[in-house]
Amino acid sequence: MAVSLETRCVPPLRNRLAAIRRQLWAVAAFVAIAVSAAAQAPPTPPPAPAPQPPRFVVVLDAAHGGNDPGGHLANESEKAFSLALSVRLRSLLGARGIQVITTRESDSTVESNRRAEIANHANAQACLSLHGSQSGSGVHLFASSLPPAQPARFPAWKTAQAGWVTRSLSLAGVVNSALQHAGLPVTLGRTALPAIDSMTCPAIAIEIAPNRAAGNTKTGLDDPGYQAQIAEALAAAMLEWKAEGRQP
Ligand SMILES: [Zn+2]
Repeated sequence: MAVSLETRCVPPLRNRLAAIRRQLWAVAAFVAIAVSAAAQAPPTPPPAPAPQPPRFVVVLDAAHGGNDPGGHLANESEKAFSLALSVRLRSLLGARGIQVITTRESDSTVESNRRAEIANHANAQACLSLHGSQSGSGVHLFASSLPPAQPARFPAWKTAQAGWVTRSLSLAGVVNSALQHAGLPVTLGRTALPAIDSMTCPAIAIEIAPNRAAGNTKTGLDDPGYQAQIAEALAAAMLEWKAEGRQP
């Protein structure tokens, strides 16, 4: 009865093979649909480039230099003091990621016009002209005495700062706040500033005098702690000025 056994066993095997074949066709069809859908899908656009932060440059102008010694301070010339402060401040700003351009790096003569050219060419967001003085107390901040005017496309030399005076006064306000926050006495003023008056950027003169208000004992310009305190406060002011510039 071998035949009857065969007839009993073969049909289930055939059925199973047919079922497997159907499943394979179903899988093949699914893969084909998936591949064609992927082929028809629109290409994913490349990610948009991250917006570039606005360029922020500070010009440090160490006043005097070369054959212009500036004022005579207690233990050094004003030109040496302003250069030392510029070097120290450049280092602090660089460490905070702020790009710095200086008008001089050594004891060299730099004319006022050249200083303005450097600042204007740098398209700076701030120019700090650094001075020292034996008279007065604390830090004297000066903006140009030019009357404010609309910024001109081709501003006249010697009066170009008129279009920027309003911004320069804002800059003086930010620097004033930072210095006061550091406990330093500050006076604000406006005066004719030969280099700054030709600048087309926010610009102020910062004149450092001995701190005579610190517990009645005079802290001189050659005091390393006083120099560091001022430089740190000015660096903090530039960070604040940069942050304000980002606001709409
Ligand atoms: Zn000076």
